[in-house]
Amino acid sequence: MPSETELIQRYFVFEQGRADVIQGIGDDGAVVMPPAGQELVASVDTLVEGVHFLPGIEPGAIGHKALAVNLSDLAAMGAEPAWASLALTLPEVDEVWLRDFSRGLKALAQTYGVALIGGDLTRGPLSMTIQVLGFVPRGAALYRSGAQPGDRIFVTGSVGDAGLGLAVLQGRLELPSDAAAYLSSRLHRPAPRIEAALALRGCASAAIDVSDGLALDLERLLAASRVGATVELTQLPLSPAARAAFTTPIDWSQILTAGDDYELLFTVAPERAGAMEKAFDAIAGGATEIGHIEATPGLRCTLEGHAHARPRRAGYDHFAQP
Ligand SMILES: [Mg+2]
Repeated sequence: MPSETELIQRYFVFEQGRADVIQGIGDDGAVVMPPAGQELVASVDTLVEGVHFLPGIEPGAIGHKALAVNLSDLAAMGAEPAWASLALTLPEVDEVWLRDFSRGLKALAQTYGVALIGGDLTRGPLSMTIQVLGFVPRGAALYRSGAQPGDRIFVTGSVGDAGLGLAVLQGRLELPSDAAAYLSSRLHRPAPRIEAALALRGCASAAIDVSDGLALDLERLLAASRVGATVELTQLPLSPAARAAFTTPIDWSQILTAGDDYELLFTVAPERAGAMEKAFDAIAGGATEIGHIEATPGLRCTLEGHAHARPRRAGYDHFAQP
């Protein structure tokens, strides 16, 4: 049976050409060199089997998603990711599982130039915690709290896909195989919106990532900014696969409350909107305007301009489930 150190060496030490890693995995702690004049941004997230992913999900997808959800939080802060550490708890040593998990993690880390600088393996129910560190130029971080009345509200990519992917996976929704495959990839291999985040520096007044549903995450931004908003439902960007899922009228409540999309939701002052749209010309997936910020607190939804009921449940909250 290989030791913890051997397993970490085998699966979690990989080439990363970052000159700012002075000491990576292999000592009691990692030593890194943040660039001069930049602020460090830290974020941590845990995925637990049965809570965040179903048993039997392909380990490569779990490795990808465990890092992706953390990179999405850095993106929401306008930060460029640099380093990550992993604490992995496994019920038993399964080297095939470890190899596939590490491949999924490594591929995404290398896409964004993230170095894995720390690793810890323990035995127990399957779960993983990743901490990511990144940086922003001094004063350039994006916060939830900066939205002002009159600001325009945008969201990157498309919303609702991951929730529909879960419905397909659980047999609650049947779709043609190409649409099902697309929605499943959105659920299992979300793409953190790092490029969009960097384009938003200096343009956005506030930002958050959509992890627990558009309505709930927008409400978090509104509360932090002490403002309200109106969102026009017909403006919400839906993928062709999501549109294919609704033969009857679109279930806006489903779209507003579906979690796991990892898109960026952000606000832009009217005078900055031109610069933001220009910066987004080069960003894959783009961004769509969905509403505007108002002084009156609370979230209001309209459907073709007419008041529309808010969803009964705002979105996913671990401690508010029945
Ligand atoms: Mg977040």
